[in-house]
Amino acid sequence: MNRLKIGWIGLGNMGNPMAKNLLKAGLEVTVFNRTKDKEKDLISAGATSAATPEALLQACDVVITMLSNDEAVKEVFESEQGLLSKDNPGKIIINMSTVSPETSRYLATICSKKQVHFIDAPVSGSVKPAQEGSLVILVGANNADYEIVKPIFEILGKVAIHVGEAGVASAAKLAINYLLGLNLQGLAETVLFAEKNGVSKEDMLNIINQGACGNGITAIKAPAILNDSYAAAFALKHLVKDLRLAKEAGLDSPLIHPLYDSFVLAQEEGLGDQDVMAIISSLKNK
Ligand code: NAP
Repeated sequence: MNRLKIGWIGLGNMGNPMAKNLLKAGLEVTVFNRTKDKEKDLISAGATSAATPEALLQACDVVITMLSNDEAVKEVFESEQGLLSKDNPGKIIINMSTVSPETSRYLATICSKKQVHFIDAPVSGSVKPAQEGSLVILVGANNADYEIVKPIFEILGKVAIHVGEAGVASAAKLAINYLLGLNLQGLAETVLFAEKNGVSKEDMLNIINQGACGNGITAIKAPAILNDSYAAAFALKHLVKDLRLAKEAGLDSPLIHPLYDSFVLAQEEGLGDQDVMAIISSLKNK
Protein backbone atom coordinates (compact mmCIF):
# COMPACT_ATOMS: atom_id res chain seq x y z
CA MET A 1 0.00 0.00 0.00
CA ASN A 2 2.96 2.30 0.62
CA ARG A 3 3.58 2.16 -3.10
CA LEU A 4 0.07 3.41 -3.95
CA LYS A 5 0.26 6.94 -5.29
CA ILE A 6 -2.60 9.02 -3.93
CA GLY A 7 -4.24 12.01 -5.61
CA TRP A 8 -6.40 14.42 -3.60
CA ILE A 9 -9.00 16.84 -4.98
CA GLY A 10 -10.64 19.40 -2.68
CA LEU A 11 -8.59 21.08 0.04
CA GLY A 12 -11.37 22.69 2.08
CA ASN A 13 -12.00 22.41 5.81
CA MET A 14 -12.01 18.60 5.63
CA GLY A 15 -9.77 17.84 2.64
CA ASN A 16 -6.80 19.82 3.93
CA PRO A 17 -6.29 17.91 7.23
CA MET A 18 -7.21 14.56 5.66
CA ALA A 19 -4.67 14.91 2.84
CA LYS A 20 -2.07 16.05 5.38
CA ASN A 21 -2.58 12.86 7.38
CA LEU A 22 -1.74 10.78 4.30
CA LEU A 23 1.48 12.77 3.90
CA LYS A 24 2.29 12.33 7.60
CA ALA A 25 1.83 8.57 7.14
CA GLY A 26 4.54 8.65 4.47
CA LEU A 27 2.37 8.32 1.37
CA GLU A 28 3.13 10.06 -1.90
CA VAL A 29 0.33 12.61 -2.40
CA THR A 30 -0.47 14.83 -5.38
CA VAL A 31 -3.15 17.50 -4.95
CA PHE A 32 -5.53 19.54 -7.07
CA ASN A 33 -7.68 22.39 -5.79
CA ARG A 34 -9.78 24.77 -7.89
CA THR A 35 -8.41 27.74 -5.92
CA LYS A 36 -4.69 27.14 -6.34
CA ASP A 37 -3.73 29.20 -3.28
CA LYS A 38 -5.13 26.49 -1.00
CA GLU A 39 -2.58 23.98 -2.38
CA LYS A 40 0.38 25.91 -0.88
CA ASP A 41 -0.09 24.54 2.62
CA LEU A 42 -0.05 20.95 1.34
CA ILE A 43 2.90 21.57 -0.96
CA SER A 44 4.86 22.88 2.04
CA ALA A 45 3.96 19.63 3.80
CA GLY A 46 5.44 17.58 0.94
CA ALA A 47 2.69 17.20 -1.68
CA THR A 48 3.08 17.85 -5.38
CA SER A 49 0.47 19.65 -7.48
CA ALA A 50 -1.35 18.54 -10.63
CA ALA A 51 -2.63 20.98 -13.25
CA THR A 52 -5.97 19.26 -13.86
CA PRO A 53 -8.06 16.44 -12.33
CA GLU A 54 -7.29 14.32 -15.41
CA ALA A 55 -3.52 14.82 -15.00
CA LEU A 56 -3.92 13.87 -11.34
CA LEU A 57 -5.67 10.59 -12.17
CA GLN A 58 -3.05 9.79 -14.77
CA ALA A 59 -0.26 10.30 -12.22
CA CYS A 60 -1.88 8.36 -9.36
CA ASP A 61 -3.31 4.93 -8.54
CA VAL A 62 -6.09 6.17 -6.27
CA VAL A 63 -7.77 9.60 -6.40
CA ILE A 64 -9.88 10.89 -3.51
CA THR A 65 -12.41 13.72 -3.92
CA MET A 66 -13.59 15.86 -0.97
CA LEU A 67 -15.77 18.56 -2.51
CA SER A 68 -18.76 20.70 -1.52
CA ASN A 69 -21.71 19.00 -3.16
CA ASP A 70 -23.13 16.88 -6.00
CA GLU A 71 -22.62 19.62 -8.60
CA ALA A 72 -18.96 20.15 -7.68
CA VAL A 73 -18.26 16.42 -7.73
CA LYS A 74 -19.97 15.91 -11.10
CA GLU A 75 -18.03 18.84 -12.54
CA VAL A 76 -14.71 17.40 -11.35
CA PHE A 77 -15.58 14.00 -12.87
CA GLU A 78 -17.16 15.12 -16.14
CA SER A 79 -15.70 18.48 -17.22
CA GLU A 80 -13.37 18.93 -20.17
CA GLN A 81 -10.23 18.27 -18.14
CA GLY A 82 -12.11 16.27 -15.54
CA LEU A 83 -11.22 12.90 -14.02
CA LEU A 84 -12.96 10.89 -16.74
CA SER A 85 -11.98 13.05 -19.73
CA LYS A 86 -9.37 10.51 -20.87
CA ASP A 87 -9.00 6.73 -20.55
CA ASN A 88 -7.29 5.59 -17.35
CA PRO A 89 -8.49 2.00 -16.92
CA GLY A 90 -7.84 0.21 -13.64
CA LYS A 91 -7.58 3.36 -11.51
CA ILE A 92 -9.65 3.80 -8.34
CA ILE A 93 -11.62 6.95 -7.46
CA ILE A 94 -13.02 7.39 -3.95
CA ASN A 95 -15.59 10.14 -3.40
CA MET A 96 -15.61 11.13 0.29
CA SER A 97 -17.86 14.21 -0.20
CA THR A 98 -21.45 13.99 0.99
CA VAL A 99 -23.66 13.55 -2.09
CA SER A 100 -26.97 11.85 -2.84
CA PRO A 101 -27.13 8.05 -3.22
CA GLU A 102 -28.37 8.70 -6.75
CA THR A 103 -25.27 10.74 -7.62
CA SER A 104 -23.03 8.01 -6.16
CA ARG A 105 -24.71 5.35 -8.30
CA TYR A 106 -24.42 7.64 -11.33
CA LEU A 107 -20.70 8.17 -10.69
CA ALA A 108 -20.21 4.41 -10.31
CA THR A 109 -21.89 3.88 -13.69
CA ILE A 110 -19.89 6.49 -15.60
CA CYS A 111 -16.65 5.24 -14.00
CA SER A 112 -17.38 1.64 -14.92
CA LYS A 113 -17.86 2.69 -18.58
CA LYS A 114 -14.22 3.85 -18.43
CA GLN A 115 -13.08 0.74 -16.49
CA VAL A 116 -12.38 2.97 -13.49
CA HIS A 117 -13.33 1.56 -10.06
CA PHE A 118 -15.58 3.85 -7.97
CA ILE A 119 -16.05 3.84 -4.20
CA ASP A 120 -18.28 6.15 -2.17
CA ALA A 121 -16.87 6.81 1.27
CA PRO A 122 -18.50 9.77 3.01
CA VAL A 123 -17.39 10.52 6.54
CA SER A 124 -19.01 11.18 9.89
CA GLY A 125 -17.01 13.60 12.04
CA SER A 126 -15.87 17.16 11.51
CA VAL A 127 -12.59 19.05 11.33
CA LYS A 128 -11.12 17.84 14.64
CA PRO A 129 -11.59 14.11 13.84
CA ALA A 130 -10.28 14.87 10.33
CA GLN A 131 -7.13 16.36 11.90
CA GLU A 132 -6.79 13.50 14.37
CA GLY A 133 -7.43 10.77 11.79
CA SER A 134 -10.41 9.58 13.82
CA LEU A 135 -13.25 9.94 11.31
CA VAL A 136 -15.96 7.31 10.95
CA ILE A 137 -15.81 6.28 7.30
CA LEU A 138 -18.88 4.77 5.61
CA VAL A 139 -17.91 2.66 2.63
CA GLY A 140 -19.88 1.68 -0.47
CA ALA A 141 -17.73 -0.59 -2.62
CA ASN A 142 -17.29 -4.12 -3.90
CA ASN A 143 -15.18 -6.34 -1.63
CA ALA A 144 -12.13 -6.47 -3.89
CA ASP A 145 -11.85 -2.67 -4.23
CA TYR A 146 -12.47 -2.21 -0.52
CA GLU A 147 -9.55 -4.50 0.36
CA ILE A 148 -7.19 -2.43 -1.81
CA VAL A 149 -8.08 0.94 -0.23
CA LYS A 150 -8.70 -0.19 3.37
CA PRO A 151 -5.20 0.87 4.53
CA ILE A 152 -5.95 4.43 3.35
CA PHE A 153 -9.09 4.48 5.48
CA GLU A 154 -7.08 3.20 8.45
CA ILE A 155 -4.99 6.40 8.26
CA LEU A 156 -7.96 8.75 7.84
CA GLY A 157 -10.38 7.23 10.30
CA LYS A 158 -10.80 5.31 13.54
CA VAL A 159 -13.18 2.92 11.83
CA ALA A 160 -14.40 2.12 8.32
CA ILE A 161 -17.82 0.49 8.03
CA HIS A 162 -18.48 -1.30 4.76
CA VAL A 163 -22.24 -0.93 4.29
CA GLY A 164 -22.75 -2.22 0.74
CA GLU A 165 -22.17 -1.27 -2.88
CA ALA A 166 -21.61 2.29 -4.13
CA GLY A 167 -24.55 4.51 -3.13
CA VAL A 168 -25.44 2.72 0.11
CA ALA A 169 -22.78 4.63 2.04
CA SER A 170 -24.20 7.94 0.82
CA ALA A 171 -27.62 6.88 2.14
CA ALA A 172 -26.05 6.02 5.52
CA LYS A 173 -24.34 9.42 5.59
CA LEU A 174 -27.62 11.27 4.97
CA ALA A 175 -29.23 9.26 7.78
CA ILE A 176 -26.51 10.11 10.31
CA ASN A 177 -26.60 13.78 9.32
CA TYR A 178 -30.35 13.84 9.93
CA LEU A 179 -29.58 12.74 13.48
CA LEU A 180 -26.85 15.41 13.63
CA GLY A 181 -29.37 18.08 12.60
CA LEU A 182 -31.86 16.90 15.23
CA ASN A 183 -29.12 17.06 17.87
CA LEU A 184 -28.05 20.60 16.93
CA GLN A 185 -31.59 21.93 16.76
CA GLY A 186 -32.44 20.24 20.07
CA LEU A 187 -29.31 21.54 21.77
CA ALA A 188 -29.94 25.10 20.58
CA GLU A 189 -33.63 25.07 21.58
CA THR A 190 -32.82 23.59 25.00
CA VAL A 191 -30.11 26.13 25.86
CA LEU A 192 -32.30 29.07 24.71
CA PHE A 193 -35.33 27.82 26.66
CA ALA A 194 -33.22 27.41 29.80
CA GLU A 195 -31.64 30.86 29.41
CA LYS A 196 -35.07 32.51 29.05
CA ASN A 197 -35.98 30.97 32.41
CA GLY A 198 -32.89 32.11 34.28
CA VAL A 199 -30.48 29.20 33.74
CA SER A 200 -27.11 30.36 32.38
CA LYS A 201 -25.85 28.67 29.24
CA GLU A 202 -22.76 27.59 31.23
CA ASP A 203 -24.94 25.74 33.73
CA MET A 204 -27.25 24.28 31.10
CA LEU A 205 -24.38 22.95 28.98
CA ASN A 206 -22.84 21.47 32.11
CA ILE A 207 -26.14 19.74 32.99
CA ILE A 208 -26.42 18.34 29.45
CA ASN A 209 -22.84 17.16 29.22
CA GLN A 210 -22.64 15.66 32.71
CA GLY A 211 -25.85 13.72 32.21
CA ALA A 212 -27.21 11.00 29.97
CA CYS A 213 -28.43 13.51 27.36
CA GLY A 214 -24.88 14.61 26.59
CA ASN A 215 -23.12 13.13 23.58
CA GLY A 216 -20.15 13.76 21.30
CA ILE A 217 -21.81 16.63 19.46
CA THR A 218 -23.15 18.41 22.58
CA ALA A 219 -19.62 18.30 24.04
CA ILE A 220 -17.90 19.46 20.83
CA LYS A 221 -20.28 22.38 20.31
CA ALA A 222 -20.36 23.63 23.94
CA PRO A 223 -17.32 25.98 23.59
CA ALA A 224 -18.82 27.62 20.47
CA ILE A 225 -22.09 28.31 22.34
CA LEU A 226 -20.24 29.62 25.41
CA ASN A 227 -18.09 31.97 23.31
CA ASP A 228 -20.93 32.81 20.91
CA SER A 229 -18.42 32.16 18.13
CA TYR A 230 -19.30 30.12 15.07
CA ALA A 231 -16.35 29.90 12.67
CA ALA A 232 -17.22 27.05 10.31
CA ALA A 233 -15.98 23.58 11.13
CA PHE A 234 -19.01 22.21 9.27
CA ALA A 235 -20.65 25.05 7.37
CA LEU A 236 -24.39 25.41 7.94
CA LYS A 237 -24.99 25.52 4.16
CA HIS A 238 -23.61 21.96 3.91
CA LEU A 239 -26.14 20.66 6.46
CA VAL A 240 -28.94 22.39 4.53
CA LYS A 241 -27.69 20.48 1.49
CA ASP A 242 -27.59 17.17 3.39
CA LEU A 243 -31.11 17.59 4.80
CA ARG A 244 -32.40 18.46 1.32
CA LEU A 245 -30.70 15.36 -0.10
CA ALA A 246 -32.24 13.25 2.68
CA LYS A 247 -35.70 14.59 1.78
CA GLU A 248 -35.06 13.93 -1.89
CA ALA A 249 -33.95 10.38 -1.01
CA GLY A 250 -37.36 9.79 0.63
CA LEU A 251 -37.07 10.95 4.24
CA ASP A 252 -40.61 12.06 5.13
CA SER A 253 -40.68 11.72 8.93
CA PRO A 254 -42.47 14.17 11.25
CA LEU A 255 -39.34 16.10 12.22
CA ILE A 256 -37.45 16.38 8.91
CA HIS A 257 -39.73 19.11 7.56
CA PRO A 258 -39.53 21.63 10.46
CA LEU A 259 -35.84 20.79 10.88
CA TYR A 260 -35.08 21.49 7.22
CA ASP A 261 -37.15 24.72 7.28
CA SER A 262 -35.28 25.91 10.38
CA PHE A 263 -31.84 25.46 8.79
CA VAL A 264 -32.99 26.94 5.46
CA LEU A 265 -34.23 30.03 7.32
CA ALA A 266 -30.87 30.35 9.10
CA GLN A 267 -29.14 30.16 5.72
CA GLU A 268 -31.48 32.82 4.31
CA GLU A 269 -30.60 35.01 7.29
CA GLY A 270 -26.97 34.93 6.14
CA LEU A 271 -25.59 32.18 8.39
CA GLY A 272 -24.73 29.66 5.61
CA ASP A 273 -20.97 30.08 5.83
CA GLN A 274 -20.92 29.94 9.61
CA ASP A 275 -20.75 26.71 11.58
CA VAL A 276 -23.88 24.52 11.87
CA MET A 277 -24.11 25.49 15.54
CA ALA A 278 -24.96 29.06 14.42
CA ILE A 279 -28.52 27.71 14.22
CA ILE A 280 -28.72 29.00 17.81
CA SER A 281 -28.15 32.61 16.57
CA SER A 282 -31.09 32.22 14.21
CA LEU A 283 -33.38 30.71 16.88
CA LYS A 284 -32.42 33.35 19.46
CA ASN A 285 -34.37 35.99 17.55
CA LYS A 286 -37.56 33.94 17.23
P1 NAP B 1 -15.40 23.30 2.12
O1 NAP B 1 -14.48 23.71 3.18
O2 NAP B 1 -16.49 24.22 1.68
O3 NAP B 1 -14.50 22.87 0.82
C1 NAP B 1 -15.10 22.55 -0.39
C2 NAP B 1 -14.07 22.14 -1.41
O4 NAP B 1 -14.76 21.88 -2.65
C3 NAP B 1 -13.04 23.24 -1.74
O5 NAP B 1 -11.80 22.63 -2.01
C4 NAP B 1 -13.61 23.86 -3.03
O6 NAP B 1 -12.66 24.46 -3.85
C5 NAP B 1 -14.14 22.63 -3.71
N1 NAP B 1 -15.13 22.94 -4.74
C6 NAP B 1 -16.38 23.44 -4.59
N2 NAP B 1 -16.99 23.57 -5.78
C7 NAP B 1 -16.10 23.14 -6.72
C8 NAP B 1 -16.15 22.99 -8.13
N3 NAP B 1 -17.25 23.33 -8.83
N4 NAP B 1 -15.06 22.50 -8.77
C9 NAP B 1 -13.95 22.16 -8.07
N5 NAP B 1 -13.84 22.26 -6.72
C10 NAP B 1 -14.91 22.73 -6.06
O7 NAP B 1 -16.14 21.94 2.47
P2 NAP B 1 -15.76 20.86 3.62
O8 NAP B 1 -16.27 21.34 4.92
O9 NAP B 1 -14.34 20.46 3.45
O10 NAP B 1 -16.72 19.66 3.17
C11 NAP B 1 -16.44 18.85 2.03
C12 NAP B 1 -17.50 17.75 1.95
O11 NAP B 1 -17.46 16.96 3.13
C13 NAP B 1 -18.94 18.26 1.83
O12 NAP B 1 -19.66 17.39 0.99
C14 NAP B 1 -19.46 18.19 3.26
O13 NAP B 1 -20.87 18.03 3.29
C15 NAP B 1 -18.73 16.95 3.76
N6 NAP B 1 -18.49 16.91 5.21
C16 NAP B 1 -18.05 18.00 5.88
C17 NAP B 1 -17.83 17.92 7.24
C18 NAP B 1 -17.36 19.11 8.03
O14 NAP B 1 -17.45 19.06 9.27
N7 NAP B 1 -16.85 20.17 7.43
C19 NAP B 1 -18.03 16.71 7.93
C20 NAP B 1 -18.45 15.59 7.21
C21 NAP B 1 -18.68 15.70 5.84
P3 NAP B 1 -12.28 26.03 -3.66
O15 NAP B 1 -11.20 26.04 -2.62
O16 NAP B 1 -11.83 26.44 -5.00
O17 NAP B 1 -13.53 26.74 -3.23
